[in-house]
Amino acid sequence: MANLLIIGAGGVSRVATIKCAMNQEVFDKITLASRTKRKCDEIASFIKQRLNVNIHTAEIDADDSEAVVGLIKKSGAEILLNLALPYQDLTLMDACIRAKIHYIDTANYEHPSLAKFEYKEQWARNKSFKDAGILGLLGSGFDPGATNVFCAYAQQNLFDEIHFIDILDCNAGDHGYAFATNFNPEINLREVSAKGRYWQEGRWIETEPMEIKMGWDYPQVGVKDSYLLYHEELESLVKNIKGLKRIRFFMTFSQNYLTHMKCLENVGMLGIKAVKHKGMDIVPIEFLKTLLPDPASLGPRTKGFTNIGCVIRGKKDGQDKQIYIYNVCNHEECFKETGAQAVSYTTGVPAMIGAKLIAQGIWKGKGVFNIEEFEAKPFMDELNSSGLAWKIIEMKPNLGDEKN
Ligand code: NDP
Repeated sequence: MANLLIIGAGGVSRVATIKCAMNQEVFDKITLASRTKRKCDEIASFIKQRLNVNIHTAEIDADDSEAVVGLIKKSGAEILLNLALPYQDLTLMDACIRAKIHYIDTANYEHPSLAKFEYKEQWARNKSFKDAGILGLLGSGFDPGATNVFCAYAQQNLFDEIHFIDILDCNAGDHGYAFATNFNPEINLREVSAKGRYWQEGRWIETEPMEIKMGWDYPQVGVKDSYLLYHEELESLVKNIKGLKRIRFFMTFSQNYLTHMKCLENVGMLGIKAVKHKGMDIVPIEFLKTLLPDPASLGPRTKGFTNIGCVIRGKKDGQDKQIYIYNVCNHEECFKETGAQAVSYTTGVPAMIGAKLIAQGIWKGKGVFNIEEFEAKPFMDELNSSGLAWKIIEMKPNLGDEKN
């Protein structure tokens, strides 16, 4: 039995808190704390009505490590699940070091005005985690998260050597708005407007944003334009998957989304540095977030599917082998179950699973780890039983031979 503290009360947290409440035999006490307590209370009341489970709620500023240590002590938490924003990763990790409790997140640390997309500062806390005797689990969402585990599962169970990986992320959901992002707009727009990057034969190759495009036939969705982006899981997978020759990440975007993004970029609305407006400092992307629909409000409007997975090619018993591991998720079914759309669902479920495997002592260790460093099978089994069933199909081995 474990006492869990969840920080943040957006779409991802909503799903993770519901899924943790469904695992009462593992989590005997759950505290949900965020900047706006009202949002925690709303999630708690949904869970009380649906599952008859009590969730404790609190207000917290996650940028204030001292206050978080106080809340950890008050709640008696043994595990902290960080579902606030990547800006809070370091203060929350530091609070866990001081209070000596385990830490889990779903996104790498970002400074609000520097978009770096790297694990450096979190990995630098490895020794402090070791000394405190606690485990830090980085990237327990879907991508990063389940996609890393798919790669680890392939490495541990299906291949002798892995040479090529393409991670393929498709959200074919339709929310009916002219323009909206399906998770936090600041984080989402930074990621997709940045230069592309992939890793090949030991070095990083940079591309212009959206320069490399391919059509990919996503099962249950169909062919979609998919664009090469840099995504944070590439950094850890390059270290942890042995024998790799190339790894890339692709995400689908509609022409409509790209046109809106280009216009916003052209007029400076995606800027992350403050500009003066009537004597006040305003960060354009923060102002844009105020104008755009709250991703947590997309749930009731979104129809269609997500399909996220990995195509992996390598060798087994001397033969070429290529597989596609993926999950398909239905926005409307996610909403029926949790009141959130599939992007929050596909992130919130793996966040719960990470916390559950640590609580049960199935994943253990001292230090800071990326999710693919653990045994993949227990996580894969939990995905199947927690609403994110996956499939593996064998393909004709050609990944890596195609021309871009
Ligand atoms: P939201 O913006 O919907 O929710 C973030 C929550 O964090 C809000 O409740 C917000 O409070 C709270 N928060 C922000 N700053 C603070 C602070 N200083 N103190 C306390 N609480 C704070 O985001 P999502 O739910 O969409 O995403 C949550 C996380 O999941 C993000 O880190 C995102 O990058 C990550 N993610 C990971 C994915 C993956 O597959 N790995 C995919 C999608 C998201 P308030 O309500 O007051 O604004």
